[in-house]
Amino acid sequence: MKHIQKRILVTGGAGFLGSHLCDRLVEEGHEVLCLDNLFTGAKRNIGHLIEKPNFELIRHDLVEPILLEVDEIYNLACPASPIHYQFNPVKTVKTSVMGAINMLGLAKRVKAKILQASTSEIYGDPTVHPQTEGYWGNVNTIGIRSCYDEGKRCAETLFFDYHRQNRVNIRVVRIFNTYGPRMHPNDGRVISNFIVQALSNSDITVYGRGEQTRSFCFVDDLIEGLVRMMNAPDDFIGPVNMGNPDEFSILELAQMVIRLTGSRSKIIFEPLPQDDPLQRQPDISLAKEHLNWEPTLNLEQGLTRTIEYFRTIMV
Ligand code: NAD
Ligand code: UDP
Repeated sequence: MKHIQKRILVTGGAGFLGSHLCDRLVEEGHEVLCLDNLFTGAKRNIGHLIEKPNFELIRHDLVEPILLEVDEIYNLACPASPIHYQFNPVKTVKTSVMGAINMLGLAKRVKAKILQASTSEIYGDPTVHPQTEGYWGNVNTIGIRSCYDEGKRCAETLFFDYHRQNRVNIRVVRIFNTYGPRMHPNDGRVISNFIVQALSNSDITVYGRGEQTRSFCFVDDLIEGLVRMMNAPDDFIGPVNMGNPDEFSILELAQMVIRLTGSRSKIIFEPLPQDDPLQRQPDISLAKEHLNWEPTLNLEQGLTRTIEYFRTIMV
């Protein structure tokens, strides 16, 4: 398929999702500017792109303003795993809020279209299940997850205010748990933790009793959704949920990882972190209806590919 070449900024482009998005946009022939402060991202995630004539890495912290000439902005910069966003919670809020202000200001000035990587965390510990976009959430304002949840909620507010007040062309996507190759092996997220533990035959650490649920989306499916949303007609701005609606308990996930890796690991139980949501499952009717988007890979297929990746980096 032939695409019109655009100049596209990906903030957080050296991270897990951002690097896959850069791959996709470079492949389509766009001029891609990857902006990252390399806090949780890494040069190795985009090393294969550095020599490409239509790719550029800009090392910059999104909390500081920057002026660039671009047609589109995917705003992904923000640490996403609890151990990283809790490492410096004040900075996490600054990245979400000041980062959004800086990018929305840029979008306004150069008339770029801008997509925000929001999150299912804006629903908090949801009392509505599965979560629809019309649900306003159940979020603790003062807990250890609040820096991430409230930062992302405020970013959504800013997006909609810039849209109403300044006619900025926005898109807001609420991403549910996504996994795949290039997840950081030590970032503490459940899929990377379990695979690393299983491949090294160490104990699998299930927090709580493992009855809490999540719905896991493979990265390629999510990237397809983000690109479709950016290219959606201007009257569909979101917020739109994106994730895989297949719901699993964390204990089921642990058992599946053990089976797929053929590991000798044992499951052990550790305390449940504060404010850990009990259940999470996206209602993706809106994405289906407006974008004709739904995930194509189930958990077992996606885990198999992710395990292959971790085998190559753990030798
Ligand atoms: P990640 O930690 O791998 O990527 C985030 C990137 O942002 C990293 O490269 C990091 O260095 C960069 N960054 C952080 N703070 C920055 C700053 N101040 N200035 C410039 N760059 C900065 O995480 P990810 O999983 O790739 O997540 C990407 C985005 O998607 C995040 O905004 C996250 O909130 C959102 N999201 C991800 C998931 C998921 O399951 N992976 C779910 C919901 C939302
Ligand atoms: N979890 C777990 N063991 C781990 C890491 C995470 O049981 O080693 C649980 C965690 O308590 C949560 C779920 O897995 O209930 C998903 O955690 P993750 O940090 O990946 O994402 P989030 O909580 O942000 O959805």
